[in-house]
Amino acid sequence: MWVFEELYGNIKIGFDARQIYRKKTEFQDLRIYETERFGRLLMLDGVIQTTEKDEFIYHEMLTHPLVMAHPRPQSALVIGAGDGGIVRELLKYPGMKRVVLVEIDRQVIELSEKYLPSISAGAFSDKRLEIAVEDGAKYVARTDEKFDIAVVDSPDPIGVAKVLFSKKFYSAIADVLTDDGMMIRQTGSSVLQSEEMGDNFKILEGIFPWVLPAVASIPTYIGGFFSLLAAGKGKTPLDVPFKQLNQKYEKLRIKTRYYNPEIHYAAFALPNYMRKGLK
Ligand code: SAM
Repeated sequence: MWVFEELYGNIKIGFDARQIYRKKTEFQDLRIYETERFGRLLMLDGVIQTTEKDEFIYHEMLTHPLVMAHPRPQSALVIGAGDGGIVRELLKYPGMKRVVLVEIDRQVIELSEKYLPSISAGAFSDKRLEIAVEDGAKYVARTDEKFDIAVVDSPDPIGVAKVLFSKKFYSAIADVLTDDGMMIRQTGSSVLQSEEMGDNFKILEGIFPWVLPAVASIPTYIGGFFSLLAAGKGKTPLDVPFKQLNQKYEKLRIKTRYYNPEIHYAAFALPNYMRKGLK
């Protein structure tokens, strides 16, 4: 059967797919499909979240540019990300001592682990991981813990995810980051949601000493380059010299299928149409 993403009013992406699970959780309509082209696919409220085939691009680009650049990344806070892909990438670093995953919907974690096991790849049972099942905005407001890295992997600003795009939330993220902490999030398609990057850039610019947009191309997130926004207090991901980054990448032998030291810098080079959107 043909399944279409319903994120945009006047454009759709469709898959020839077989539904293998569907449940209305406390928070969202959760569906899992088997597709020819992209393997298993997680959909929440009609929006594609991740697929077995291309998830590595997104999950690598929301982690390695920060962790590889951070002087000593030992702790990370992950908001959303119930499929486990971000946590899997963060835990590839032996120096990462503690990762806290704050996911509002326990069913996403349980069903992703059951039906999309290749994405979490055992990360949920890593001793370094703590899972908090709650609203990420509430968690950052109440925790007094500090983190070196924060990754916001929420769906688009709809429903319960809306709070994760607010000034209050980003200010609270800034408060829970250490002095050289860095955060990152995706801010939608550079073509179909072009205002999302600019809007969030403006909010982050008012909170963090630096904000750096980056791009990645994720086939099942339609609309050309997907924009990412990194922000932080100390050094930026571009401050680390290539030679040093390359040596660290070689030494750590972190297995990646998209990220590499050259892409680390290239990802932050924006096409002119995106630069214009930031002026
Ligand atoms: N990579 C996807 C994207 O960019 O759209 C996001 C994938 S991940 C599955 C998104 C997760 O965020 C979902 O599991 C959802 O339950 C969770 N989420 C939504 N709002 C949240 C909130 N306020 N606090 C914590 N988790 C939230």
